[in-house]
Amino acid sequence: MSTITVVGGGYVGLITAACFARLGHRVHVVEIDTRKMESLKAGHLPIREPGLPEIWEQGAASGLLSVTGSYKEAISTSEFVFLAVGTPPRANGSADLRQVVAAVRAVIGAAGGEMPVIVVKSTVPPGTTELVRDVVLEHRPYDDARVVSNPEFLREGLAVIDFMRPSRVVVGCDDRETAESVGALYEKLRRPVIYTSTRSAEMIKYASNAFLCTKVSFMNEIASLCEEIGVDVVDVSKALGMDPRIGSSYLDAGLGWGGSCLPKDIAGLAWTANRVGVQTPILNSAIKINARQGWLVVSRLKEMIGDLRGKTIGVLGLAFKPNCDDIRESPSLRLIQALIAEGCEVRAYDPMAMEAAAHNYPEIMYCTDAYGAAVGVDALVLATAWPQFQSLDLHKVRSLMRRPLLMDARNAFDVNAVTEAGLVYAGIGRPMAGPEFEQPQRELAQHLRGTRGRPRSTAAKGQHAA
Ligand code: NAD
Repeated sequence: MSTITVVGGGYVGLITAACFARLGHRVHVVEIDTRKMESLKAGHLPIREPGLPEIWEQGAASGLLSVTGSYKEAISTSEFVFLAVGTPPRANGSADLRQVVAAVRAVIGAAGGEMPVIVVKSTVPPGTTELVRDVVLEHRPYDDARVVSNPEFLREGLAVIDFMRPSRVVVGCDDRETAESVGALYEKLRRPVIYTSTRSAEMIKYASNAFLCTKVSFMNEIASLCEEIGVDVVDVSKALGMDPRIGSSYLDAGLGWGGSCLPKDIAGLAWTANRVGVQTPILNSAIKINARQGWLVVSRLKEMIGDLRGKTIGVLGLAFKPNCDDIRESPSLRLIQALIAEGCEVRAYDPMAMEAAAHNYPEIMYCTDAYGAAVGVDALVLATAWPQFQSLDLHKVRSLMRRPLLMDARNAFDVNAVTEAGLVYAGIGRPMAGPEFEQPQRELAQHLRGTRGRPRSTAAKGQHAA
């Protein structure tokens, strides 16, 4: 058993702390925000994450897990300090490392005779762990400056599972003994540990997030093409994903990626590359494609129901992805802002994220359930693919709506079920469906034969939907 301090009681800090306690380590969480810290001490978790309340309670009850605002109290007994503070993006895309540096200085100030190993768990640009070492060396002798990069790959909504069953643990350190002491903290998980340099570990994290972004944006580009030539992108991605060289995750066309990590990490990598004079056309395109997805939905809606001014749109889902209440950089909220800018009224519902959204977006009309979001709307948009939306009674949904248009911006609904309920179905990169949509297939055929211009079939169809 080791004694660990986790600095930062946010998403990563809380999961790291609770899971390390579950593995039998003694863990102190230091949180600088007094209100958050007091609330954590009282057992209230600020995030909703499956499995976390149970292991948090167990850890607290066993005495292995504690929360404090005092660095001294935590650091004096700790062999390892994990930094899990925020690294938000600056306006130019670079990572703001002020929380990291402030946390390191606080650790140095609190450390007595022996300096703990400092482990950077926050996502940071390559070279940051070396910067952390330099900060330590301003105050301590060389042997005290043991710093490690140990990036976190958890996904919100699956965070506990991801921490306890990681595909790999990455430990970056230029000193093997220190690296192995950190690797040993994860021993009970029996998962592969990749030992590498600090810079490589930092790069692995940035590159993996940038790759996930690129996969989704690639699929969104393919979706745009599918839409024009009458192909269903869902069939394409399903078959692509069955190829083990490609893999099936992050292949869903839709509104795109969001959250507190992917947008800032791909921007951070592009900024890092730019700083060292390396061009990143792939990263730049992935970012550009992602930014356009919400506007594509807006323009599809315009094609189908005309000018959006004065229209009411229902939106299902506000969180940046299902199974969490995190609305940071949520594609759904980006879309809603675009709709409001067009003059729409927006009714919305999310199983978990209503409170967070209501706090920041008072202009949205929040509904008590998904059916409420369908009342009197000109179109209903699925923006976050919560599984429970798929089991909605679509006949009831149809009966509540003013116009029968379901815009499935996550390609999650069963098309037949939607059309059988009397709704017109529009997805991302999929042929529209509904009884009125036989005509456009003919238009497409004429187009391919060269006897017609490009088939804006969806526009023609959409007008029937009104
Ligand atoms: P967060 O904003 O939820 O939490 C950070 C916490 O650190 C806050 O509670 C803040 O008050 C606290 N804090 C800041 N400075 C402090 C200090 N000096 N001392 C004590 N506490 C301090 O952030 P997060 O989502 O947990 O992310 C943390 C890092 O992990 C980021 O670099 C992020 O990119 C990375 N990461 C996040 C995820 C994710 O899914 N959220 C996944 C992998 C990696």
